Amino acid sequence: MSESLLDRRERLLGPRLTTFYEQPVHLVRALGTKVWDADGKEYLDCYNNVPHVGHCHPKVVEAICKQAGTLNTHTRYLHEGIVDYAEALTGSFADPLNSAMFTCTGSEANDIALRMARAVTGATGVIATDHTYHGNTMAVSQLSCTNPPPDRWDSVDFVSAPDSYRPISSEDWAKEVEAAIARLEKRGHQLSALVICPFFANEGFPDLPKGWLDPAIRAVRKAGGIIIADEVQPGFGRLGTHFWGHEKSGFVPDIATMGKPMGNGHPVAGLVTSRKVMEAFRETFRYFNTFGGNPVSMAAALAVWDVIREEGLQENALEVGDYARAGLRDLAEKHPEIGDVRGSGLFFGAELVHDRETKAPATDFTKAVANAVRHKGVLMNFLGVHYNVLKMRPPLVFSKDDADRMLKAVDEALAEVPLG
Ligand code: PMP
Repeated sequence: MSESLLDRRERLLGPRLTTFYEQPVHLVRALGTKVWDADGKEYLDCYNNVPHVGHCHPKVVEAICKQAGTLNTHTRYLHEGIVDYAEALTGSFADPLNSAMFTCTGSEANDIALRMARAVTGATGVIATDHTYHGNTMAVSQLSCTNPPPDRWDSVDFVSAPDSYRPISSEDWAKEVEAAIARLEKRGHQLSALVICPFFANEGFPDLPKGWLDPAIRAVRKAGGIIIADEVQPGFGRLGTHFWGHEKSGFVPDIATMGKPMGNGHPVAGLVTSRKVMEAFRETFRYFNTFGGNPVSMAAALAVWDVIREEGLQENALEVGDYARAGLRDLAEKHPEIGDVRGSGLFFGAELVHDRETKAPATDFTKAVANAVRHKGVLMNFLGVHYNVLKMRPPLVFSKDDADRMLKAVDEALAEVPLG
């Protein structure tokens, strides 16, 4: 028998590579909200936030092909693409966020944001939540508790991930931030930055009221630190009500980083900050990025930018997201395992529990449901602090028919999978 693709991957790329699902899916093509595997089976993609405006969107494909056939080079030449995109992007931010920088991955963007924070504050301490992911560089991987580095830097400290289902108050969370600042100071590190996803996407996307973060933000600023908002997941209109996650939370960060959906699959990422922070960074670090902001990446990003507006995708996210959540709430009436339905726009899901009274997380059950739904041709994931939240972030062209298909699969899976 010939060696399986999974075995070849392991042999050539090494052990412990992550795959989704107990039986990984081998995809060969995609369009809009659908993907197809090597056997021709169709799946509805409810999870992939990379193909933001739909898989293989013709306008994005055309922009990439046209620019690749005209010119692609590193970023030391003058080119309109990078400034055209920077102009569009910075125009979507409040004052004083008017300077952009481009990279190839969200990890790099967060890495630079940490360096910018050092440059502008002169300090080294960083705070993150204890259930987040901000990327894979050596510095950024220090911000992970779920995949802890072997050598934790003493310049990094953590606060608990906010939770709206088992809530802690905004003031208590700010006290946690103050305590982390004090611990850092004790270890000789003044605060340079609090790094958060404003939607707490990896933490289980709690429904936090606007202004909930204000006391913590005040504590950070009082200590001389800045706020880095990681918009890699909530950005670019996904939340429906707002274009950026920090707008929904009601604050203006000092640096906003972004990536994944920005190029619809083409690797482009970046950050936006103030002129003051950018100047401090440029004065402190000599920085060059060969591919960051190259003409093809900028053509891809600009096409995505235009499609979001031309096709009203933020509005679609709001409408279809509300519809899908209402459907999940209907399912909750007959499936007591659904403890909470939450999210915003096309970033939503359901927290599954053994018992609504105790809210005991149904972690194994949630994993089994995600796998059962996969066999019904619908792709989603599960995460959150207890890994018991079905998480959905489909391409923004997701329709109400797509939502109905997802709801049917979840309904059937909840009925079939034993709670255990
Ligand atoms: N920040 C967040 C919130 C992410 O979810 C991710 C990727 N999962 C990253 C940063 C890192 O982005 P990349 O994989 O492009 O380096």
